[in-house]
Amino acid sequence: MKSTSISPQEFIQFMEAEGLKKGYVINLDGKLIVSNDAFLPLFRFIQTSPDYKEHEGVFWEIEAETGSLYVVAIHRTNRGAGQGGTRLKQYPTVENLFTDALRLAKGMNDKNACAGLWWGGGKSIIHPNEHPRALAGEKRERVFKHFGLFIASLNGAYVCAEDMNVTPNDLRIVHAHNRYTTCVPEEIGGSANPSGFTARGVFMGLLAGVHFMEGKADKTVIDLSGKHVLLQGAGNVGWALMEEIVAAGGRVTVFDISDVTKSAIRAKFTTDQVQIEEDITTFYGLEADIFAPCAIGAILNDETIPNLKVKLIAGAANNQLKDSIAHAEALHERGILYLPDFIINRMGIVNCANEQYGYLLDTIEEKILEVYDFSHHLLQKSKEMDISPELKAMEMAEQLSRVNHPIWGHRGIKIIAQLQKDNWSLIDN
Ligand code: NAD
Repeated sequence: MKSTSISPQEFIQFMEAEGLKKGYVINLDGKLIVSNDAFLPLFRFIQTSPDYKEHEGVFWEIEAETGSLYVVAIHRTNRGAGQGGTRLKQYPTVENLFTDALRLAKGMNDKNACAGLWWGGGKSIIHPNEHPRALAGEKRERVFKHFGLFIASLNGAYVCAEDMNVTPNDLRIVHAHNRYTTCVPEEIGGSANPSGFTARGVFMGLLAGVHFMEGKADKTVIDLSGKHVLLQGAGNVGWALMEEIVAAGGRVTVFDISDVTKSAIRAKFTTDQVQIEEDITTFYGLEADIFAPCAIGAILNDETIPNLKVKLIAGAANNQLKDSIAHAEALHERGILYLPDFIINRMGIVNCANEQYGYLLDTIEEKILEVYDFSHHLLQKSKEMDISPELKAMEMAEQLSRVNHPIWGHRGIKIIAQLQKDNWSLIDN
């Protein structure tokens, strides 16, 4: 390959022309190794990417018949297998795709470690050769079957889960081809839609933030009367969060792009409880106590931060800060308290982890309350150090994610080393 700015389809064609089906870049004892010199431009891109944070491995495979590219990025496996969702998405370039995989895997590493899960961080991407929503029938089944075999070939270094455009039924197919799949349907022992739990975790984080600002620390006092919350995105998580806020006496202003959602809000809530704002710029500039981003990432950026008139940000959306350091600092400088998304939206993955540990609803309830304690502690520590809670949380994640699994130790890196010894990239699944 000449460069990484080619499209994923061109990358697939290049691999086919070279007779290559799989490839990897792995990090063994600090030394980065590429499976084949034909991938050197990709190797150099990963090595020099600002999003490469000593990831233990990036693996990829193509499936010629459906024209699919599969990628797994594993950040760190001290606590257990790299775990994180599978995203079905088309990307304009190979660079965009691998950057997303690196960033998302690191994000899962931090989230899993801070949630106390015995999992490391990983993420997978399926790049289909047509729009994800158009991918249907036997072709969709084939895409997920081969993805399942690809995951199986990694011998448990990575465990997959649901993410963008992937359904429980897709994961049923993946699960039929390996033992390293979570978020499967309930009837085969899955943990079902986690959104309600995610919302309750976010709510406990938000409550901890409010209490912290008021000098309180009692999670049994659930009272948001007099508080005004801006909520962006009243979808699966946002809707349930909005219900919790209203039930606690809070008032919500929503911005959502969906007319169906807006009609449902008008039908269910009074305007004293929930109001709808139609203009996004006006919405970001409204005076309120709390902003809860629950739609898309990167909405805390150079354009929005100077206009915000809130005291606290606590929401479900992943990667809310466009730049996790610069924008965390910008919020800190403006005196806006920021609860990191990867701390308070953890309940989705915690619910999912019960599929591996055995499902116990009581432990989920305990973990929801832990979000309050963790958030409160984080805000206290970051205040003492006068740094952004995001930076303090990243520091905590860095330490926690280096703790080895109490039984298996740092097993994932041994699995990766073994894959290299076994010439994984040359073996057909
Ligand atoms: P969803 O698709 O059910 O809801 C998203 C909502 O946002 C929809 O109502 C949609 O109309 C609206 N929306 C989309 N773009 C928007 C925009 N630009 N401005 C305003 N509204 C917009 O998704 P969800 O499951 O509720 O997840 C919401 C966010 O939380 C995502 O970022 C997701 O990655 C994150 N998250 C979800 C979970 C979970 O358990 N579902 C767990 C962790 C993190």
